[in-house]
Amino acid sequence: MVSKDELLRIINRYLLRRNEVPDNVIFVTDVCRCLRRSWYERKYMFRVNVYQLEGKLAHEELQSLCRDVLGGEPEVECRMKYRGIDIIGRCDCVLDDAVIEFKTSRAPLIRENYVKQAMMYAYMLGKKHAYVVVITNNSVVLEAYEVDNNVVYELVSRAVKLHEHLVKNEVPEPEKSELCRNCPFRNICHFDGGLTKYIPRHSK
Ligand code: SF4
Repeated sequence: MVSKDELLRIINRYLLRRNEVPDNVIFVTDVCRCLRRSWYERKYMFRVNVYQLEGKLAHEELQSLCRDVLGGEPEVECRMKYRGIDIIGRCDCVLDDAVIEFKTSRAPLIRENYVKQAMMYAYMLGKKHAYVVVITNNSVVLEAYEVDNNVVYELVSRAVKLHEHLVKNEVPEPEKSELCRNCPFRNICHFDGGLTKYIPRHSK
């Protein structure tokens, strides 16, 4: 029988990850959140947290919602090339003329980064419309958007910026927000101050 210590060691080792991909490959999720966090994920090991595990499990269930209930195509890869950078994403659900981005959350909020991510997938797949669906413990929040080219340009520019930082091996500046709360790198990022310095007072 495996010992308790050995079992703990195996589980902890399993939860450690590192995004080992070439510097010229940038994921849409990399640029929809703090670039510093995305940079850390390429350079350091990190521990998958409970929110990521929940999101992963939920997405398996939501594939069935997309395919069997909505008649869409789940988990569709999207790609584009820009200045030698491969920008890659995986869209949760593709319908005839729209994409759907599913999120699970404690809070019934549609965050700006969710909307940008959905718009980018819609753009990359040639769809005009994007839905963001947030599923919480006891509610579903849904909004519809049209692709905004300014958002696409912003994200593509961020991909270029992240690529530059990866190649130069220079950590980007912190992008302080409520998302710092669940960041697996917050202890190394805000070594000079507490988390409260990173999270706006009004955030939930
Ligand atoms: S703690 Fe905040 S600013 Fe620092 S890397 Fe994480 S998300 Fe970015």
